[in-house]
Amino acid sequence: MAEQEKEAALPSKESFSEWYNDILQKGEIMDVRYPVKGLYVWYPFGFNLRRNVYDIMRKLLDKDHQETLFPLLIPENEFMKEAEHIKGFEDEVYWVTHGGVSPLDVKLALRPTSETAIYPMYKLWVRSHADLPLKLYQIVNTFRYETKHTRPLIRLREITSFKEAHTVHATWEDAAAQVDEAIRLYTEFYRKLAIPVLPSKRPDWDKFPGADYTIATDALMPDGKTLQVGTAHHLGDNFAKTFDIQYEDSEGEQVYVHQTCYGVSERSVAALISIHGDEKGLVMPPEVAPVQVVIIPIVFKKAEDVLQACEEVKEKLEAVGIRVKLDASDNRPGAKYYKWEMKGVPVRLEIGPRDLKNNAAMLARRDTGEKQQVSLDNIEDEVLSMFSVIQDSLYEKAKQEVDRRILDCMSLDEVKKNITTGIAKVFWCGEKDCGLKLEDEVGAGILGIPTSQECCQGKCVVCGADAGTMVYVARTY
Ligand code: ZN
Repeated sequence: MAEQEKEAALPSKESFSEWYNDILQKGEIMDVRYPVKGLYVWYPFGFNLRRNVYDIMRKLLDKDHQETLFPLLIPENEFMKEAEHIKGFEDEVYWVTHGGVSPLDVKLALRPTSETAIYPMYKLWVRSHADLPLKLYQIVNTFRYETKHTRPLIRLREITSFKEAHTVHATWEDAAAQVDEAIRLYTEFYRKLAIPVLPSKRPDWDKFPGADYTIATDALMPDGKTLQVGTAHHLGDNFAKTFDIQYEDSEGEQVYVHQTCYGVSERSVAALISIHGDEKGLVMPPEVAPVQVVIIPIVFKKAEDVLQACEEVKEKLEAVGIRVKLDASDNRPGAKYYKWEMKGVPVRLEIGPRDLKNNAAMLARRDTGEKQQVSLDNIEDEVLSMFSVIQDSLYEKAKQEVDRRILDCMSLDEVKKNITTGIAKVFWCGEKDCGLKLEDEVGAGILGIPTSQECCQGKCVVCGADAGTMVYVARTY
C-alpha cells in the first residue's frame, strides 16, 4: 500500500504520450488491450464520463434539433455519388462484401461519416419551404481505416462517439448562419468541459470533401500540439444537387436546398483528460465528473456516529442531485485519497470524530489540493458553490495557458521556434502556394483564419506581399 500512496502516481506530464497512455488505463477510461488495431474499449467509469459529456451535448442540441438514428451500412451506389466526397474518403472506407459466404450484389460501406446515408432520405423528406430548416443529429460509431499511428480517443479506426448534425436550409445565407451557430454551440459545450477552444476557418485545401468551407475548433494540448475537436461545414447546394434535394419555394418553384453538417467525437474526452489531468491522475470538471464528491470517514475503529454522519451528508447531497460516493471500505485514508484523486473526483469531504464535534467536515479540492473546513448545516450549498469555483478556475487556468502559448510571429524562424511549445500566429497573403510553402518549411499545419480576429495589416510571412489576415500555425494531432 505504501507504494500506492506515493505522491506522483503517473509519469511527469512533460512526457505527455507516456502520461496519456498511463492515465487512460489507471484512471479506467479506456482499455487498450482489445485485439484489433485502432479499436479500444470503454471502461464503465470512462463510459460514465462519456455519458455525462454527451448529455451536455444533447441538452444543447435538443433545444432546436431532433435526435435520430441512421443505418451503419451505406450502399456503394449512394456512397459513390459525390465525386469530391469519395476522393476524400476512399482510402479509409471499410467494405462489407459478403453475406455469409455469398458475395453481395451491392457492396456496403461502413459509414466513415453519414452524408451519403442521410441525404437520400432527405430527398424524400423535404418537400416545401415549410419543412425547413430541418435539423437532425445522431450519436453513432463510424469507421475509418486509419493508416497513421492510432491512439485511444484521438486517432481511431472505430470512432465510437461521433455526434454528427445534418441541417437543411432554404438559402446559402441561412446555412452560413447555422455554421456560425454550430461553432457557438461547440464553444458553449467546451466551456462546460472547462476547455477553451479556438475556432478558425480552414484553408481550402483542408476543408471537408464536398464542402464550400469548413470552420473548425481546436484545443491546445499540453505538449503544444493542437487537437481538432469540432468541425462545421457549409455544404452549399453541392450535396443537394447530387442527391436531388429540392423544395418548393413560396412562388411554387423547385429550388435546391443548402446544407450544413457538423461533428464532435470522443476527442472531446481526450482533450478534457489531457488538459486538466495532473501527475496524481484525472481532474474532472464538476459538470461531467462521474463522481462529484467522495466522502471519507476518518475512523480508527468502528465509530458508528461518524459513519452515521457520513451517511446523512451523502443523503443531503444526493437530494440536490450531486453524484456522491461514500468510501467506507477498510482501506486506510491515504489509500482512499490516492484512489479517488486518480479518478479526478472534484471534491473530497473528510469527516472524523473531531470534525463531528464542530459539526463540520474538511473539504479538499482536487484541482488545487486546498483544504477548508465547512459546516455540515448547509453542506449542500457549500459543495455546490465550490463546484462553480472549481469549474471556473479550471477554465481560467486552461485559458491562461492557451493565451500564453499563442505568439505573433514575424518570420518563419520565429514560427519554427514557437510551434515547439504552442501556436504561432502569422500574416498570410491567402495564396495557396504561400500556405503550402509555409506548412512545408516549418513542418506544421495552417489551422486557419481565426473567426474572431480584428484585423490588421501586415506582410505575408512567406512572400512579403500585403496581407490582411493572420492565421494560426501549429503542430497537430
Ligand atoms: Zn504570400
